[in-house]
Amino acid sequence: MTQLTRRMLLGGAAATGAALALNPIPVRAAAPPVGKQATSFYRSKLGSFEVTVISDGVRVAPIPNGWVKNASQEQVLAAAEAAYMPKGSLVAPFNPLVINTGSKLVLMDTGFGPGVGPTVGQLTSVMAASGIDPKSIDIVAISHMHGDHILGLKNADGSLAFPNAEIMVPAADWAFWMNDDNAAKYKDPFNTAQMGFNRKIFGNLKDNVTQYQPGKELTSGITAIEASGHTPGQCVFVIASGNSKLLFQADVTNVPDLFLRNPDWHVMFDHEPEKAVTTRKRIHDMAAAEKILVHGFHYPFPALGYSEKAGNGYRMVPVAWNPML
Ligand SMILES: [Zn+2]
Repeated sequence: MTQLTRRMLLGGAAATGAALALNPIPVRAAAPPVGKQATSFYRSKLGSFEVTVISDGVRVAPIPNGWVKNASQEQVLAAAEAAYMPKGSLVAPFNPLVINTGSKLVLMDTGFGPGVGPTVGQLTSVMAASGIDPKSIDIVAISHMHGDHILGLKNADGSLAFPNAEIMVPAADWAFWMNDDNAAKYKDPFNTAQMGFNRKIFGNLKDNVTQYQPGKELTSGITAIEASGHTPGQCVFVIASGNSKLLFQADVTNVPDLFLRNPDWHVMFDHEPEKAVTTRKRIHDMAAAEKILVHGFHYPFPALGYSEKAGNGYRMVPVAWNPML
């Protein structure tokens, strides 16, 4: 058996040095660093369906005090640090999903759209790089009406980013967010911002959206399931083809290193925190028991994995990267 010793390493280096001296490699100019992340999409098969996860981008931001209402700042920072996030900050990814069912091209949630920040709003450009023309999207299925899931419906000039698509929104979210009495009632900064985003996106589209109810089959093979709590009307989508199933869990849990591991935590974005906890456990107990592949909008790219019970919560087991379809 060969053992690698320090002497062998040094000897090897000396031999290499000697070889280099005899055959000098021409000196080339240093390559400048590229300085930006690659366009990120990931494609896989689900039965006869084709699934493409498209990164809208990632945000890295300091975790504010009170971000989790029922845990101390120390606990939250420790959970982020245990996940090797930059000290004091949260790394939050945004991952819309495209399903090609063979007869329909369905986009699930849209990311931030243009103008929100340099590291997000990349959905349409990455989609085009993945070979999908935004004009060919037939349905945009919205899980819930928060800014990071709806703002990408429009281009910078206010035109529709997916001009030929039917836009489907959960009826209970529409009733809540488009109600002007609620806009007057929920005056905190977060809800005020969301009310503004919904008016900006949907203000001139009131007659051009389809409201759906939980249980509705949005198109053949894609069914909406009730998952409220995070918002009044959030739905998740079960995508089924042949014997294969994928659960688009939207924001039932946010970043998994914090909120799957601590499913009882109340992130400040949850509209009804106790209900959000109940929903989170119902959905992920089911996913763990049935070993369903799960997509998480705020999971690390490519945002696909499995939920397993662990400790007082769950752990996310990332899908094995598959180079072939
Ligand atoms: Zn979200």
